[in-house]
Amino acid sequence: MKPLINSFLIAISLWMYGGLVFAQKAPSAADQTGETETHYTREEVDHAFGTKAGETQYPALAIDTDEVPSVAFSAETSTDEPLKYYEIAPSTYFFYGNIAEVDENNRGFNGNAGFVVTDDSVVVIDSLGSPRLGKRILSTIKTVTDKPVKYLIITHNHPDHAYGAIAFKEQKGVIVVGHAGTMEYIKSDRIDHSVNYRNTFIKEDMLGFKPVKPDIMVGGELYSKQTLETGGKTFDIYNTGAHHSFGDLIVHQKEDNIVWISDLAFNNRVTFMADGSSEKAIDAQTWLLETFKDAKLMVPGHGSVQTSPFPMVSKTKDYMQRLRKDMTDAIEGEQDLQTTVDNTYYKDWEKIRLYHLNHKKNIDFVYRELELDLF
Ligand SMILES: [Zn+2]
Repeated sequence: MKPLINSFLIAISLWMYGGLVFAQKAPSAADQTGETETHYTREEVDHAFGTKAGETQYPALAIDTDEVPSVAFSAETSTDEPLKYYEIAPSTYFFYGNIAEVDENNRGFNGNAGFVVTDDSVVVIDSLGSPRLGKRILSTIKTVTDKPVKYLIITHNHPDHAYGAIAFKEQKGVIVVGHAGTMEYIKSDRIDHSVNYRNTFIKEDMLGFKPVKPDIMVGGELYSKQTLETGGKTFDIYNTGAHHSFGDLIVHQKEDNIVWISDLAFNNRVTFMADGSSEKAIDAQTWLLETFKDAKLMVPGHGSVQTSPFPMVSKTKDYMQRLRKDMTDAIEGEQDLQTTVDNTYYKDWEKIRLYHLNHKKNIDFVYRELELDLF
């Protein structure tokens, strides 16, 4: 186990969101035998890259289910081909993405998105992980309504939510709404790393990619909101701070009482901490549960939609609190990082998707966060 952990720690220090920079290519089914050139074990590969070429299976329902989709696309899939969607409430549509790392099979469909049809237009929430998927969202909307897309709300800058945005930006009349922190991301070298990484295995889907500067920026005070009204529906967009990215938003679809919570909590998936702050995330989770305890549905950025009392939020919060406590004990006990990685195995989480990849990175992230806080 030791050499593996060593390579993981090297990988961790090189980690950029959207891929391990030392990996030249996401592992293919062919090299999923034992340790691959990217130093993943078989188990880690299965956990991280859940989709296999040609295998497409959608759960029957997308609300309150532990069933997870496994959807694979080919490099030639047309941008005109609609995506499967779920109508989770009247006029409210949901795209249920794979729970996996981006790979050459899911091609960036490893997160959720959705749209709402109002009396005069369409409001889209998140754009999936490539320009091609952004176009496919637009093609899907056309099969549901003739109304024009008026707003695209990007909940945060991470690729799986934001890289389809250019497809909308190029449509006349679409107003892109995003967090003010997006501008920092666009200026950072993070975006170059992540685009280059994607170009190594989903180049065809990334064609035409450009960073999108939001037309309306949401920021300001923590938990303050900006409101959009269109066609009889109200969307309150709350700034939940930089808890998971350069800046995170949640969207309250008011009349229907549905909350699009983005990556503030994960369902059927281990969280991922590389940007943001575990402390801010826990605060925001507490705020979310207090503010929206009566919501009809919460729609996460990953995993199925949930009804009250939204166990995904408390589960994600418990995981983060437990990690903070364990890392505090480790640091106070002068335990080094590698020993801490070895000793912090959460058996009750091991079957949850992405545990084997994300848990070690999360340990690393929180350990370093607390080291700064405690000394
Ligand atoms: Zn995400």
